[in-house]
Amino acid sequence: MQLKAIELDFFRNYPHLDAAFSPSVNVICGENAQGKTNLLEAVAYLSSARSHRARYDRELIQFGVDNAFLKGEIFSRSRDFTLEMRLHRGSRRQMFSNGVGLKSAGELSGILNTVLFCPEDLNLIREGAAARRRFLDDIICQMRPKYAAALGEYKRLYEHKTRILRDWEENPSLLETLDDFNLRMAQTGSILIHYRAHFIRRLCQEAPAIHKSFSGGREELGLAYETVKTVTDPQASPRQLLPQLLEHQESHRQAELDARQCLSGPHKDELAVLVNGAPAKQFASQGQTRTAVLSLKLACREILYQDSGEYPVLLLDDVLSELDPRRQEFVLHRIDQGQVFITCCEDDRLSGLPDGAAFRLREGRLVSL
Ligand code: ATP
Ligand code: MG
Repeated sequence: MQLKAIELDFFRNYPHLDAAFSPSVNVICGENAQGKTNLLEAVAYLSSARSHRARYDRELIQFGVDNAFLKGEIFSRSRDFTLEMRLHRGSRRQMFSNGVGLKSAGELSGILNTVLFCPEDLNLIREGAAARRRFLDDIICQMRPKYAAALGEYKRLYEHKTRILRDWEENPSLLETLDDFNLRMAQTGSILIHYRAHFIRRLCQEAPAIHKSFSGGREELGLAYETVKTVTDPQASPRQLLPQLLEHQESHRQAELDARQCLSGPHKDELAVLVNGAPAKQFASQGQTRTAVLSLKLACREILYQDSGEYPVLLLDDVLSELDPRRQEFVLHRIDQGQVFITCCEDDRLSGLPDGAAFRLREGRLVSL
């Protein structure tokens, strides 16, 4: 997959941008606040109609203006696609693929897949288990619509069961529906565990090797799936997992009523990340944290490639800071397949520019170097 060219009008700080990109590595240098992240955000928005940092589309429209326009020329699945999006302050956005209106963001799937690394992703290691569950959920949802459906259903059931457990003392009749919710949560939960286990198995095949090469052979990345205690083999079929989840629920029934909270289920799952055998959350250095997150992202890119036959476009925002020259060299020169966008600050000392294209960005204007 490749973004050949982009056009932006009144998107964030770009009054107008018209740019063509290399099919390999594109390095975008600029001082702070020139529009580097905004550009990657525009690419990601063309991919999924979602932004990693804006809650509302109107934030993407330039201050003082009512409409923004994005256009991407994409080569994907051996075909050319022109994606166009119009954002309006106060009315719904419009999206077109080769001139045909799209009804939902779902219809963008498979046209321009992207994998994004942004500085906030370091929280994937530093924060609690919820951040790692979000990482797993996002990527598996992208690949498996059945997982996305099960996750949506599980969240609805979880919220409902949480209300039952919160209010049952004031309203005991609520308990009549508890068994039904428990059963449905165990059913959908077993689907989540099954898919997560299979995805993590593939992650374990890819990410540690990338991390090892990234760190010049110095570090071992370890990954482990931790789920509901009674589950003996998380990769087993949902049908085999179901009785194990029910058993765990049953043994926690009284504790859940006492705590008035959902205690049992895959909403507590963890993806344990270790660097050289020590939990990364507590012990990894800044560079090691960055290396681990980036290795996980590169592994996702590899898995998406194996799954679909095409590399998603890799968007690396501000990835080079805190990396020593050897690790910078890995980012710039050894991600050798697929299209990559890398932003960096002017004063990041680059170990030579990679093959591909380099740009300087100043006040929303992009100039080839
Ligand atoms: P850094 O190196 O600090 O990360 P950057 O080049 O990534 O900088 P961006 O995050 O892309 O910078 O932001 C560039 C500028 O765009 C900022 O000054 C920001 O205030 C501005 N900006 C953001 N949203 C809008 C908007 N809707 N309209 C106009 N300008 C905006
Ligand atoms: Mg930025």
